[in-house]
Amino acid sequence: MDDDVLTVLWTPEQLLQRVCDLASQITHDFSPPDSSAPVIVGVATGAFLFLADLVRNIKLPVTVDFVRAESYGSGTVSTGPPKISCDVKLDVAGKHVILVEDIVDTGNTVSRLISYLEAKGATSVSVCTLLDKPARRTVQFELLGDGKFYSGFECPDSFVVGYGLDFNERYRNLPYIGVLKPQVYTTTSDNDKYNN
Ligand code: 5GP
Ligand code: MG
Ligand code: MG
Repeated sequence: MDDDVLTVLWTPEQLLQRVCDLASQITHDFSPPDSSAPVIVGVATGAFLFLADLVRNIKLPVTVDFVRAESYGSGTVSTGPPKISCDVKLDVAGKHVILVEDIVDTGNTVSRLISYLEAKGATSVSVCTLLDKPARRTVQFELLGDGKFYSGFECPDSFVVGYGLDFNERYRNLPYIGVLKPQVYTTTSDNDKYNN
């Protein structure tokens, strides 16, 4: 697996340090008496390791759930809003929700999920993403209520893997985040690259 990685962008130590900073910020922002404990909603599968490290460092009685969003369309057409293929189990009505993502790329996924959580009656929706890749943004999303945007690192415009992020479901278990060698995916369509 390591042989397929061109460069390491963030080591396990750097990732954990930044995740702890985000958790402290969230603990501060959602502490009583100003707020009630938020519902943490992870976007499967990419956010699973980030979420696991994040919630272990949030010092609030949070609840945790997952949602799954699937992009569709052919490899030659830019993927539109994804459809939600696995619903949240927790009732988010009247709650502050923090959507936890591995990476915000075009913005389609978080945009769709914010509308979905709004329709379910969430009081606010914040987004906590490990990586933000603003160079590829096509959808400008609005957070709900007094929701905030938390971002771990700005990601260069390269395809990255590890710490939850995959290529064709592989590399999620790499403990660091690195740039995948382009020759690994040059025979694959863009659509196959950008699943969740
Ligand atoms: P969106 O374009 O809707 O913001 O992001 C869709 C999904 O594409 C992300 O949640 C993520 O799972 C995937 N994605 C976007 N950029 C990358 C990347 O550089 N590497 C990997 N592994 N997945 C990515
Ligand atoms: Mg993926
Ligand atoms: Mg994702």
